[in-house]
Amino acid sequence: MIYNYITFITPKKFTKKMPDFYTQLIENNRHWVASKLNEDTEFFKRLASGQKPPLFWIGCADSRVPANEITGTQAGEVFVHRNIANMVVHSDMNMLSTLDYAVNVLKVQHVIVCGHYGCGGVAAAMGNQQFGLIDNWLLHIKDVYRLHQAELDGITDKEERSKRFVELNVIEQVYDLGHTSIVQNAWKERQRPHLHGWVYDINNGLIKDLGVNVSDNNAFREVYKHS
Ligand SMILES: [Zn+2]
Repeated sequence: MIYNYITFITPKKFTKKMPDFYTQLIENNRHWVASKLNEDTEFFKRLASGQKPPLFWIGCADSRVPANEITGTQAGEVFVHRNIANMVVHSDMNMLSTLDYAVNVLKVQHVIVCGHYGCGGVAAAMGNQQFGLIDNWLLHIKDVYRLHQAELDGITDKEERSKRFVELNVIEQVYDLGHTSIVQNAWKERQRPHLHGWVYDINNGLIKDLGVNVSDNNAFREVYKHS
């Protein structure tokens, strides 16, 4: 019996039952390694020696918005944090730890918060349906709606209102980044990093720069400025 059980779970038999997408992944990896080495024989040797990315990216976990692919960047160029609806939540230890490392150890020059039109998290936050645990995360996005309720309620077309909500959410997350002690201290010390807000359009692949570029706390209300 034991023998039969072991043979049943051997990787060979197991992988036979997996869909093609899964079995292809390792093969894809081997092709990728070969193509990288073909372009640059030192590619992995150089990456293994350390990272010095100029950019920290905070994006949505959505599978359609891969940071490197849509910006034409390579491994080693973008330090990435992703969550549902690209949020900067001040009590999120994951985000704060990644931000602290990016700013104080890697000393990135730029931080981009990149949202995207058609964001499921933002759409869910606009409605009243319950989805479970995620509803508590969505509350942070609902707070953004409350801040901009007059403007958003004034947009009658639901699609347009949703798109504007995505943009306003990104802008608020950029400001939230600037409010953190991590960024405030870095600005005091070296006037870096520069914060930016972008939106990616999943309908055509284009990135829109929202024009929110923050490098100091001049634009913030007094209560958010650290002495
Ligand atoms: Zn999203």
